[in-house]
Amino acid sequence: MVELVVISGKGGTGKTSILGAFAALASRKVLCDADVDAADLHLLLSPRIGEREGFWAGYKAFIQPESCIRCGECRKKCRFEAVSEEFVVDEMLCEGCGVCAYFCPEGAVDMRPNLCGEWFVSDTRHGPLVHARLGIAEENSGKLVSLVRKQARRVAEEKGLDMILTDGPPGIGCPVIAAVGGATAVLIVAEPTVSGHHDLERAAGLARGFHVPVLVCVNKADLHPPSADSIEQWCRGHGHQFVGRLPFDPVFTRAQLVGKTILEHGDGPARTAVMELWDQVRSFLGSGLQPSFDREAFSGKS
Ligand code: SF4
Ligand code: SF4
Repeated sequence: MVELVVISGKGGTGKTSILGAFAALASRKVLCDADVDAADLHLLLSPRIGEREGFWAGYKAFIQPESCIRCGECRKKCRFEAVSEEFVVDEMLCEGCGVCAYFCPEGAVDMRPNLCGEWFVSDTRHGPLVHARLGIAEENSGKLVSLVRKQARRVAEEKGLDMILTDGPPGIGCPVIAAVGGATAVLIVAEPTVSGHHDLERAAGLARGFHVPVLVCVNKADLHPPSADSIEQWCRGHGHQFVGRLPFDPVFTRAQLVGKTILEHGDGPARTAVMELWDQVRSFLGSGLQPSFDREAFSGKS
């Protein structure tokens, strides 16, 4: 089983569009949207939800009015000002630390498991997709990332598929750490700017810390070729695999607007480039994979 995780140093680099194109090109794979804070792969793939489960993480305090003697101890001890003057806990403010329950003389505080969101296993025109929705203002997205990756692996094993294509979160925070560990490789989508180069260095450093091989591509490379050259040189000097450049192409936006991958919409310059990129990535991932796609299937305009 191989897992490719596509990440970027920041949001908006085009990583989901690239992952969507890979979804159209690869065969025998499970798709996984691990960008749970801003999940949007489903917008390209129009999933039909099959399995649906709650994501429970942490606790919230609940004061039982019939047991509460209104002594005020919980209000005094709560550092997050989550207990109102009427001794009702505001769920949005409660961090689930349990201090109120510990100090309540009447045992009137229940710590209840917190429903943070949902996760799904869906069918799409490009294969099974495991994805999730985190509730508003909910945290624990790293835990949810681990969960959707684990479920993607389960689905792959059940269906006898040998690849997982994961849309990872941007940045270098907890969700990315949860997305990268144990992957076969990460593909970092960089932008040809000075800040894009710095973002790349930080994301590559994170992957290196987990001993995960790093592949790099530059999106919108033609907007500033010297920066794309500098990124390519940096990759060669640091042992990272530079796998290609994609040109700026409005098809990225147009395809998103109509809920398609860039291979299924129009015939811009990015189309050929992304096919070549997939060839490079696939050859890195290993020869044990099945033939990936039929170019002829994507040769016509839509
Ligand atoms: S500490 Fe317990 S009894 Fe006192 S106000 Fe809070 S919930 Fe009520
Ligand atoms: S669990 Fe912690 S944050 Fe929530 S109400 Fe109690 S003391 Fe405040």
